[in-house]
Amino acid sequence: IAKIYTEKETSLDAMKGKRIAILGYGSQGRAWALNLRDSGLNVTVGLEREGKSWEQAKQDGFNPKRTEDAVKEADVIIFLVPDMAQRVVYREKVQPYLRERMDLVFAHGFNIHYRLIEPPNNVDVYMVAPKGPGPIVREFYVKGGGVPVLVAVHQNHSNKALEKALAIAKALGGTRAGAIETTFKEETETDLIGEQTILVGGVMELMKAAFETLVEMGYQPEVAYFETINELKMIVDLVYDKGFMGMLRSVSDTAKYGGFTVGKKVINEETRQRIREAAERVRSGKFAEEWIEEYGRGSPVLKKGMEDMDKSKEEEIGRRLKEIIERGRPKS
Ligand code: NDP
Ligand code: MG
Ligand code: MG
Repeated sequence: IAKIYTEKETSLDAMKGKRIAILGYGSQGRAWALNLRDSGLNVTVGLEREGKSWEQAKQDGFNPKRTEDAVKEADVIIFLVPDMAQRVVYREKVQPYLRERMDLVFAHGFNIHYRLIEPPNNVDVYMVAPKGPGPIVREFYVKGGGVPVLVAVHQNHSNKALEKALAIAKALGGTRAGAIETTFKEETETDLIGEQTILVGGVMELMKAAFETLVEMGYQPEVAYFETINELKMIVDLVYDKGFMGMLRSVSDTAKYGGFTVGKKVINEETRQRIREAAERVRSGKFAEEWIEEYGRGSPVLKKGMEDMDKSKEEEIGRRLKEIIERGRPKS
């Protein structure tokens, strides 16, 4: 059974007085910098270049520094640049300034688990991985809540690595929900498997398949969009709030019966086999290898995916219906 830490059994003490450098000011970087600062910790934002992030950090009241300058003055280095950029940032801007007793902190285990970054033994290496997108990590914190986090320790030179991970988890708002103890291996593999098979890949393709099929069959795309894309949020919200039983109690008996009988035909044993195969590719390191190679070629597949989606029928209709969807959204 998983060990879950909550607000009461955690403390910020292990991070008090530490100089924390947050590298990157994107999805997670901004949320972490703001939440940690609001929790009373000493945060500096380190960036590679002047640009969008630099401007945003200044607007939010930070005084961003060049990565190496932030690193030189820090006790704790938090890697919140994209996973594929971390290896180079580490090699060029962190490793040369590493001192004994510094902490290297990650929000995802990719670079440590697949050994793209191999820190010396005399530093602590640990992880605080929010189980939600950066803007939500910020939004929940501001509203008094928190997104659950995973914590893990890879190297424990100080013997205090877990306490420090939990202090950061608390400052992020994570322990208001709960901080689950895990390993770099488990976090890395489950995160990749989850985003590929469900959260990003699976759900997106299922919505697209349903939407495009309805449109092909001659139904109005606006009607198809509301049915197969927009309404998914409401169903997922019900599962989120009340579990599957809560969701099922809220839909009609016709929907329950159709769901039980047809769902298993759409998502069948073959789909499960594909999920297993995707998971095996993650576990064997094959996926990591493929992604590193793609990144090395300038991410052509990723770029094409973004371009195709931007031009898709789904997005065209979504943009057209945005006004209606916004108008209907509950106020406050
Ligand atoms: P983002 O893509 O949002 O990070 C962008 C930031 O990194 C910007 O400040 C950007 O600066 C900078 N940056 C971009 N490219 C480079 C580069 N080549 N070298 C140096 N800096 C660069 O990252 P995420 O927040 O998505 O991810 C950060 C970490 O958090 C990852 O380990 C990820 O796996 C993990 N994570 C992310 C989640 C999410 O919700 N996105 C959820 C949980 C974990 P500029 O503006 O100048 O380009
Ligand atoms: Mg994730
Ligand atoms: Mg991820």
